[in-house]
Amino acid sequence: MGVRGGGAGRLVLRDVRVPQRYALGGINQGFEVFVRMMIPERLGTAAMTLGSVRPAIEIATRYTSKRKAFGLPIQHFEAVGFKVADSVMLLDAARSMVYSTCLAVDSGKVHPGRVRRMVSQSKKFVTEAAWEIANKCMQTVGGIGYTNVYPLERIVRDIRLSMIWVGTNEIMQLIIQNEWYKEYFKVLAKEDVRDVEQDAVNADDEEEKIYE
Ligand SMILES: Cc1cc2nc3c(=O)[nH]c(=O)nc-3n(C[C@H](O)[C@H](O)[C@H](O)COP(=O)(O)OP(=O)(O)OC[C@H]3O[C@@H](n4cnc5c(N)ncnc54)[C@H](O)[C@@H]3O)c2cc1C
Repeated sequence: MGVRGGGAGRLVLRDVRVPQRYALGGINQGFEVFVRMMIPERLGTAAMTLGSVRPAIEIATRYTSKRKAFGLPIQHFEAVGFKVADSVMLLDAARSMVYSTCLAVDSGKVHPGRVRRMVSQSKKFVTEAAWEIANKCMQTVGGIGYTNVYPLERIVRDIRLSMIWVGTNEIMQLIIQNEWYKEYFKVLAKEDVRDVEQDAVNADDEEEKIYE
């Protein structure tokens, strides 16, 4: 469908013998290597998706400032201009998320579980934001945006893969959920943590708190 510069093929390994000296990270340590490599793989996808979708906003901005209806460039109709506004906002939010995650990874000081959560959040948030941006921008360019007169159709095809590869966004949700619950209950176990449930007027009404 897209990413035609890449391509994908089937690789079958059957009865392959690998000399011990070629074992990466040691025997039976493949999962560790995989988990480590998924940090640059997933954060890299998030970062490159920012770059893949930015041209869609540029094309939409240029087209809507030139194309006229009722004597006005269509950027002045809110149904059009607001789509560009939301796209710019989403791209900036997505970029901020990638930058803060990169800072956390580079610092080497953030707990590996938190890093896994932040990287998964960046991959999911950025790729879904990019999908929304690409579609909004195509909408503002109308019918010609769907043709190959503009590269918008290629951007839409390419970005669709980013929600699937290097681990689907459903798998990102699983990681985020797992890491968040672990992280939160670790914090809650500390003695000096503020119990936010006590902020309610009737916080002491224990009989109303039914969990089973
Ligand atoms: C063109 C192309 C290039 C690729 N390049 C790369 C690459 O460079 N690097 C890389 O790592 N991968 C790459 N991939 C592979 C991609 O990562 C996998 O396709 C992807 O991880 C999904 O695995 P799957 O296809 O086996 O889907 P399946 O595992 O069959 O999943 C099918 C659906 O079920 C959902 N699902 C499966 N298990 C669960 C679960 N436990 N909980 C919730 N939902 C679940 C998935 O989210 C998905 O929606 C590429 C794929 C393509 C098509």
